[in-house]
Amino acid sequence: MSNLSYVSPTADSPWGTYLSQVESVLPYLGHLARWAETLRRPKRALIVDIPIELDSGAVAHFEGYRVQHNLSRGPGKGGVRFHPDVNLEEVMALSAWMTIKNAAVNLPFGGAKGGIRVDPKQLSLKELERLTRRYTSEIGLIIGPDKDIPAPDVNTNAQIMAWMMDTYSMNVGSSATGVVTGKPIPLGGSLGRVKATGRGVFVVGREAARRKNLSLDGARIAVQGFGNVGSAAAELFAGSGGKIVAVQDHTGTIYNAHGLDMALLMAELHEKGGIGAFKGADRIANEDFWDVESDFLIPAALEGQLQGARAKRVKTRIVLEGANGPTTNEADHILADRGILVVPDVIANAGGVTVSYFEWVQDFSSFFWTEDEINLRLDKIMVEAFRRILDVAEQHHVPLRTAAFVVACTRVLQAREERGLYP
Ligand code: NAD
Repeated sequence: MSNLSYVSPTADSPWGTYLSQVESVLPYLGHLARWAETLRRPKRALIVDIPIELDSGAVAHFEGYRVQHNLSRGPGKGGVRFHPDVNLEEVMALSAWMTIKNAAVNLPFGGAKGGIRVDPKQLSLKELERLTRRYTSEIGLIIGPDKDIPAPDVNTNAQIMAWMMDTYSMNVGSSATGVVTGKPIPLGGSLGRVKATGRGVFVVGREAARRKNLSLDGARIAVQGFGNVGSAAAELFAGSGGKIVAVQDHTGTIYNAHGLDMALLMAELHEKGGIGAFKGADRIANEDFWDVESDFLIPAALEGQLQGARAKRVKTRIVLEGANGPTTNEADHILADRGILVVPDVIANAGGVTVSYFEWVQDFSSFFWTEDEINLRLDKIMVEAFRRILDVAEQHHVPLRTAAFVVACTRVLQAREERGLYP
């Protein structure tokens, strides 16, 4: 276990959780395990001071980070989070999970992540722009289209990516569209990016169902979190004959044993910003969501939602992790004991970063693909990644999460070994 002087992880903290996940795969890494310390340390962690002038004329300082966990397989790739709880340890863990996700899907990227410790809701649009631009300038030392490519994460969006791209471009003196992904389409954004994560959740769900001899036609689906990821996945399952029997978001939980009308539900979401008051379903208590009988349970809201007590109650066959880190370690073991298949986040929600990769490739070649081409390529990459992880899980008799880590860590450490140590 590495002993870094600048963080103090605990068993349940993000970096502590990541370190124990790494320990669990060491027995499967063979001779590559000698390089494992590489995985326990970020390659580079930059902390920056971000002073901005507020609209009131006062000056405020914010703390920003960009961590490049591993660059053995290519430039860093990972989002930027604006949240009051952001700290170095969290960004380190998120960057490490990006190393694993990118390698599990076999994208030619390392892992990185960034963030600012700020509540963006307290800032005006102009203040947010100044914050984003100064942060981009500060981390401009280490980002770039062939060095490290940020993207949106919690509380950041296409507008923020546009400001980042513009600031970086101004500083280097040329339009660098490939420096960030998740941009608006006119600035080199990709078609299909908005729904890509939900589409990836659906594709791996379809493959998992095949393995379980479960037909999508008539399958019952319960979805927690009806935002970008949850709603896009639900629409695709419904389009394949699935019945969306329960949905929960921050406004409440709704249930309909015959399946919700997705067109009406999407209209409700766009009109009211939530689904809690939807007329075409029964409203049930939030906690009762975990008792709904389903074939697929899709946690697509926040981390840590599926914990031990809930894992004992759920009546489902396959858990598809749309969110990052929705299942606790304890719940993971309970679900495995109960024979419920868990498709882990590092593969299930990798559709977003996969289409970010397509965006970066399109920016480099200045040649843009149709949405059909993008969706077909996404499908192919997700299917290949899922099958590889399933094979490894069967070979070693381990859960898919361990298998995904085995596949990813093997790829990262092979690259490490083949590159050799400099000097
Ligand atoms: P979003 O903001 O679009 O949607 C979040 C949803 O969760 C909303 O429906 C919200 O109402 C619901 N929610 C919030 N608090 C809740 C609560 N206490 N109980 C129940 N529901 C609650 O976010 P998103 O982009 O869909 O991201 C969801 C998850 O997926 C996050 O964990 C995110 O890190 C992960 N993820 C997103 C992407 C992406 O491309 N958007 C990619 C990979 C992973």
